[in-house]
Amino acid sequence: MPNDPLTAEQREIRDLVRELARERIAPRAAEIDKSAEFPWDVVELYRENEIFGILFDEEYGGIGASALMTLVVIEEVSKVCATSGLIIAVQELGSLGLKLAGTDEQKQRYLPRLASGEWLTAYALTEPGSGSDSAAMRTTARRDDGEYVLDGGKRFITNAGVADLYTVFAKTDSDAGPNGTSAFVVEATSPGFEVGRIEPKMGIKGSTTGEIFFNDCRVPAANLLGDEGDGFKIAMRILDRSRPGIGAQGLGLAQGATDYALEYAKSRETMGKPIGEHQLIAGMLADMETKCEAARGLLYKCGQLIDEGAEGAELTKISAMAKLYCSDVAMDVTTDAVQILGGYGYIQEYPVERMMRDAKITQIYEGTNQIQRLVIAREMLKENRAFLLAGVG
Ligand SMILES: Cc1cc2nc3c(=O)[nH]c(=O)nc-3n(C[C@H](O)[C@H](O)[C@H](O)COP(=O)(O)OP(=O)(O)OC[C@H]3O[C@@H](n4cnc5c(N)ncnc54)[C@H](O)[C@@H]3O)c2cc1C
Repeated sequence: MPNDPLTAEQREIRDLVRELARERIAPRAAEIDKSAEFPWDVVELYRENEIFGILFDEEYGGIGASALMTLVVIEEVSKVCATSGLIIAVQELGSLGLKLAGTDEQKQRYLPRLASGEWLTAYALTEPGSGSDSAAMRTTARRDDGEYVLDGGKRFITNAGVADLYTVFAKTDSDAGPNGTSAFVVEATSPGFEVGRIEPKMGIKGSTTGEIFFNDCRVPAANLLGDEGDGFKIAMRILDRSRPGIGAQGLGLAQGATDYALEYAKSRETMGKPIGEHQLIAGMLADMETKCEAARGLLYKCGQLIDEGAEGAELTKISAMAKLYCSDVAMDVTTDAVQILGGYGYIQEYPVERMMRDAKITQIYEGTNQIQRLVIAREMLKENRAFLLAGVG
């Protein structure tokens, strides 16, 4: 099968998730979108089938974390419901700070509860005045004996109000630029922690996106991740590993929309034949399939590199490319799927209009696609390819 570097065991897991997605999640997708309520039944399904365990090592109650497998699982679920795919992506996003920078004690304290899905998690970087410019954050944390006291607020936080544990970034030294940022894990029950407004939005409607506030919020000093001042580096190392998850959500949406449009094009007839036999529609289907396959090649390569231990510039560049390309493909392909269904594509009875609305966010969060392009170009400009030009006159 093209683009399938999975082992036999990984294929078995993919097939199990594919079946769960088709049989248990797909029938819920339209209702999740319509009600805009967080789908706790899907979380329960993940718990029962140990899906969150796919993200974690055995010593913390998982089945052995694999980045590639995580991407495949997010893709499979997002083919039928992008909100449900995001629940898995954010469990990974919110756990990565602990995985990358946590002490053994911190990992033992939290990861088993995240691996079982008993606790959900979140990643809180964005503030009202600090999105792409994350270094402009204003939330502060000051040491007070055995605790840190956090003040400020975050905006647009996925899983706000449903997460039990938040990875939070705050300034411990406001004069030290990015080196003055520190990372913490903050339990939702911490004194002074509060959830604010949950935003109504265009797509991924079942996912909560909201404000969180810290009002003299007291967190044990033992919840600092890494050392004081490590926060910005931790935030970026997390994004290097989590951005492909958004790529996987985008790819799932694109493939789901392609599959739906294909079936529709076989059965809808105009001018005496199925629309798929009109060359302009056939050409669109061919482009959609080709884009999905190309996106999958890049995404899975990124997953494999993470599993092989890639770090630094190599990882930063390929993860930005995977997020950028898969999300642009998601927007293009879901828009074309709506076009192929004609008027039926625009009405809510058919899933492609939801897929098109859901696809838009993949170009925006975890760094907009403008920011991904800046990241990729910055890495390219650092590379020395002069030797490739040797002999070129
Ligand atoms: C549904 C949803 C869920 C989210 N979930 C989370 C979450 O869980 N955790 C979290 O921390 N954040 C989350 N975010 C925030 C998200 O990551 C930010 O919205 C995003 O990074 C953009 O920041 P901004 O909205 O402040 O836009 P801005 O930074 O104000 O950007 C506005 C526009 O300017 C462009 N731009 C900005 N700077 C440059 C530049 N230097 N060069 C070229 N173009 C530029 C941007 O690409 C964009 O088009 C979420 C957002 C949404 C909508």
